[in-house]
Amino acid sequence: MDWRTKLLNPAPRARQDYQSLVTPVYRGSTVVFSDQNAVTDDWRQAENGYSYGLYGTPTSLELAARIASIEGAKETFIVPGGQAAIALIYLAYCQAGSHALVPFSAYGPNKAMAEGLMRGLHVEVEPYDPLIGADIAALIRSNTSLIWCESPGSVTMEVQDVPAIVAAAHAKGVAVALDNTYAAGVMFDAFAHGVDVSMQALTKYVGGHSDLLLGTVSARDSAAYDKLGPIYQQLGLAVSPDDCSLALRGLQTLAVRLDVLEQSTLKVAKWLSDQPLVGRVLHPAMASCPGHEIWTRDFTGSTSVFSFVFDEHIRAEQVIDFINNLEIFRIGMSWGGVNSLAVVYPDLIRPNQDFAGRIVRLNIGLEAVDDLIADLDQALSKMV
Ligand SMILES: *Cc1c(COP(=O)(O)O)cnc(C)c1O
Repeated sequence: MDWRTKLLNPAPRARQDYQSLVTPVYRGSTVVFSDQNAVTDDWRQAENGYSYGLYGTPTSLELAARIASIEGAKETFIVPGGQAAIALIYLAYCQAGSHALVPFSAYGPNKAMAEGLMRGLHVEVEPYDPLIGADIAALIRSNTSLIWCESPGSVTMEVQDVPAIVAAAHAKGVAVALDNTYAAGVMFDAFAHGVDVSMQALTKYVGGHSDLLLGTVSARDSAAYDKLGPIYQQLGLAVSPDDCSLALRGLQTLAVRLDVLEQSTLKVAKWLSDQPLVGRVLHPAMASCPGHEIWTRDFTGSTSVFSFVFDEHIRAEQVIDFINNLEIFRIGMSWGGVNSLAVVYPDLIRPNQDFAGRIVRLNIGLEAVDDLIADLDQALSKMV
């Protein structure tokens, strides 16, 4: 062989029996088949073997299998982010003429997709009260094809009665999807509570260090798997094996991080609830959070993100000063990493609720909790 040909011959020369403790990073688009008859283009790689890197590599499928095992799913798809997971679910379950329901506490970009892409595709997505429970039955129409739950909701943290919503939905043959990002896929057992499709942003707790973007879509059974798979293939939701490798590493420390985050977050939330300038703390483990009793019934723990509302006599500009005066808390979106974050939602309103720029969301990180409380204390004292 000419040396130029040798350069391009990918056949391995080294021994291939290295048994690493960690999952290797497999890069690759093309899969080589043993003969022409073996050539396939098939998203069902977990069952039928590899056909193309777009549908997963051993690295991403290992991550998928681990998430499926932790969540108790039939199968899990790894996608480029939580928002891509939301898109996959909408596009798999809705078509022109469908009706879907989404809680008004849902993640903002989910509602933006409902109003934008889905409306453009002639899918009507109707917002509903996250605390509706079994009364959702009255909103289900003959063309309803999907009900979203997100519990607790984004920013306002309402805990939903998912089993009641599932019962009403299944009575009319409607599928239920859950955004289970808050619970990291572990503090709330989506499938034990009847959900058909559960997604999470691995970007948050599984990644855990603010350095990757990935999402998962987990199917309860083969009906959900068969619905999602073809759309997953058509959308071409490829993921980076490097990001998957980081997520696999994140899984190894997820339990210890969640443990510390839960305890620190509860301590900060309780401290805040004793501050005279604070009106209401929206942490699902506290009675002041809407749906707290349901959290107690259905969840095995809480995580690191919660909100609080300043007392009514505080002005919006003072809240912005409070955020700007924080020193350890960084100002930023997203959460689930090692750093504490704070952000105010100046324009957030919910039906019958205008927060008038007084709602602040915190993400608690792994800093010493007393330093975090001291930081909040100094920023609060500058408000008066
Ligand atoms: C962050 C987030 C998402 C989106 O995840 P990305 O990976 O940032 O696209 C979806 N749902 C919830 C509840 C989130 O907090």
